[in-house]
Amino acid sequence: MKDKHLYIETFGCQMNVHDSEQMAVLLSEMGYALTDNSQKADLILINGCSIREKAEQKAFSELGRLIRLKAKNPNLIVGFGGCLAQHWGRKVYSRVRDVDLVFGTHNIHRLPEMVAACQQERKKITRTDFSSKITSLNIFAPPPQGSISAFVSIMQGCDNYCAYCVVPYLRGPEMSRTPDDIIDEIKKLVQHGVKEVTLLGQNVNSYGRKLNRDCNFVLLIQRINEIDGLERIRFTTSHPKDLSDDLIDCFARVPKICEHIHMAVQSGSNRILKLMNRGYTAEDFLEKVEKLRHACPHISITSDIIVGFPGETQQNYQATIELMEKIRFDLLFSFKYSARAGTAAQKLKDNVPEDEKNQRLNFLQALQNRHTQEKHTALEGSVQEVLVEGLSKNSGQDMTGRARSWKIVNFKGGSELIGKMVNVEITCGYLHSLRGKIKED
Ligand code: SAM
Ligand code: SF4
Repeated sequence: MKDKHLYIETFGCQMNVHDSEQMAVLLSEMGYALTDNSQKADLILINGCSIREKAEQKAFSELGRLIRLKAKNPNLIVGFGGCLAQHWGRKVYSRVRDVDLVFGTHNIHRLPEMVAACQQERKKITRTDFSSKITSLNIFAPPPQGSISAFVSIMQGCDNYCAYCVVPYLRGPEMSRTPDDIIDEIKKLVQHGVKEVTLLGQNVNSYGRKLNRDCNFVLLIQRINEIDGLERIRFTTSHPKDLSDDLIDCFARVPKICEHIHMAVQSGSNRILKLMNRGYTAEDFLEKVEKLRHACPHISITSDIIVGFPGETQQNYQATIELMEKIRFDLLFSFKYSARAGTAAQKLKDNVPEDEKNQRLNFLQALQNRHTQEKHTALEGSVQEVLVEGLSKNSGQDMTGRARSWKIVNFKGGSELIGKMVNVEITCGYLHSLRGKIKED
């Protein structure tokens, strides 16, 4: 019986979201039911991201707010986990004294024993050591009732050491799960009603590189494609330097792979890309995009860009804008450079003034909005295959789902369509979504 309540707040990327799902599963076995009311909780976990300073501040300010609930409920246990806890370790206690539990990215599977120790011994527990094995990722998290789409982590950590990035330090070296473990998990998800999976890794293109067997990402997706009942496969993120011709070819020949790739370019300047330690040039990136579009003409391409990296001149920034004009991404996640402790870039002078970073970001985002809007308008009149996920959040009456391109499509229809694939004729392309009507055969 679940007689205790767990409140989790998550900051960060899909990896953090997935980690939180696994935390909830482990703790449900100890009798904790999830609640969305922090006032009711017996256990509060903040799962934070450390990728940029802003994300870090948000998580700490939430921790500061939630810890005050201890005044009303002295038995409340508050834990701080994820990349952020990995980064801060015991120093979390000097920022927020009353935290009970600090656990890093390789210690999620130990949550039950840590929570039990907090309950019984009322002492602080800190676990931020790295393991040499995959541990937490092999915990099966049953999807919430009615889920159509689910994340599946196929690997953890990263070996790329991009100069600005803390991930290799906080999630450890790259390790891949075995293909059998991944296939088993996807089959179980399909038994729970899931129709679409998104394979997660910091660089899925290098999946399997260190496994002691004949295994790579292309072989893995070919096996996943054979799973009965699974209808769509997505993956993220693809590092451009490791995108092989073989994988590009999969977009043309593996039926369940959706026509969307997220491939971070970060900058259009070769000088900055070199300083970032990305391992490719703007020309290499363009060539990969051309090959992708040749293999799969309607592929949707999304990307990440950082502005204001140390030493980025106006000319370097202009090279990024020119690359965006040449490629015309479907969607872009863009960030101001944020210096992170321990990274190679932290030793460089963060010399682009804040105002200048803001201006560069604003201009780039306005340009991207124009590109996205033009692409969405161009889809008017087309017919898109949509996997129906549920009621639209914006209007309680519309149904919503995603096209194969990952674009959100809203349309009128009944809840009996949830989990089904429907053809929708696009009537209007907005900036953040498409609107359409079901196309009768
Ligand atoms: N592994 C993914 C890849 O290489 O595409 C990226 C994962 S990271 C969580 C997501 C994005 O955050 C990166 O692509 C980058 O654009 C951005 N990012 C990472 N570190 C950053 C930093 N120090 N400052 C600003 N943005 C950063
Ligand atoms: Fe960070 Fe680079 Fe690894 Fe992505 S590939 S997680 S940006 S180090």
